[in-house]
Amino acid sequence: MLSTLNVFFTNICIIFLILSVTFYLMRNRLPIQYDSKRSTRLYFGFANGLTGILLMHNSISINGSLIDLRLLPLALSALYGGPVSIVTTGIILLLYRVLISGGESVSALQNSLVMLTGFTVLIILCAQLIKHKGRLFTVIVTIGSTLVLLRMLLGPSHPHAWQTIFLPYFLITIGASILFYHLSHMLQGHFVLYAYQSYLASTDELTRLANRHVITGKVKALVEAKAPWGVIIFDLDHFKAVNDQYGHAVGDAVLRHFSVLLTQECPDSITVGRYGGEEFIVVIPNTFTVSPTRLARQLVQSVTDTPFVMQDHALTITVSAGVAYAKNQAAGIVFKQADTALYAAKENGRNQFMLYDK
Ligand code: GH3
Ligand code: MG
Ligand code: MG
Repeated sequence: MLSTLNVFFTNICIIFLILSVTFYLMRNRLPIQYDSKRSTRLYFGFANGLTGILLMHNSISINGSLIDLRLLPLALSALYGGPVSIVTTGIILLLYRVLISGGESVSALQNSLVMLTGFTVLIILCAQLIKHKGRLFTVIVTIGSTLVLLRMLLGPSHPHAWQTIFLPYFLITIGASILFYHLSHMLQGHFVLYAYQSYLASTDELTRLANRHVITGKVKALVEAKAPWGVIIFDLDHFKAVNDQYGHAVGDAVLRHFSVLLTQECPDSITVGRYGGEEFIVVIPNTFTVSPTRLARQLVQSVTDTPFVMQDHALTITVSAGVAYAKNQAAGIVFKQADTALYAAKENGRNQFMLYDK
């Protein structure tokens, strides 16, 4: 009895561990659902296949018969990833079943394969027909248990198999299913929240650009990698006047307008961030592939060319920028140099960029 309990808890730990690691690794792709990317559903099916294999290896001995909980990973695949995940899990379990079949009679293997294939097909059908997750999960577990019962009744008969084997199997399966139905929801919810909080913590609330913390992290990595990086600091011209004339809400909208322009014009490799207030920053990781001065010129020009459109008129905004290249100085010095260049651009009449070249 104790060893049965021990194996049962080992099974629970296997499912919990692989499910948690899978959700953690896929935290940026959650929630997993039928219309998630195909690669996401394949990966989830693969993880459940792995769980199924480990469960088959850790089968529970009940009154001389071995039972396992492979029904659960199949049901979880169906619940989250739909047909793509179930088929992936099913194929992995089938292949593994064939692989470990050494010494087994052909008919026993055939029975297993027919049952696993039949079960996978039935789940796919159910997943198409039943949209309510809780109901789908209940139906899958019921079908799986019924197939096990049928196989037991059709196979070599144990005396009192119904009470001594099937009933404990049924209770264990139902218990574990209820546990993992709720646990998987809680786990996924937790990682979705975690990903959302990480996103909030790394972005500026108003513009959703990278915040100062992320920029500092990126620059630190570039310094450590001894990359030929450069930086452009932008400051909107006479922005206080925009706030004074049109109000703070319009000022906020202008900041968003400017941040969209920056994001659109900068290649993906470049980090665009809000440094604070109406100051923005662009970090170029490789100044040989993207020239900071060329990019600064292009951005200053496109801000002038793209007025902020309000209900009754268009408001032309301008920006000044300071550019600095990293030449083995500390990151703080590069930022100060860009700031000095920005100050010079303001002094020189605004709506332009200056390069720090001392
Ligand atoms: P300059 O051309 O010299 O940069 O002039 P400026 O008016 O842009 O410069 P200043 O630094 O005097 O003013 C910046 C203004 O930006 C003051 C502040 O109210 C405004 N500001 C800073 N953060 C925000 C924000 O989040 N929303 C809005 N609407 N205004 C902001
Ligand atoms: Mg300012
Ligand atoms: Mg300003």
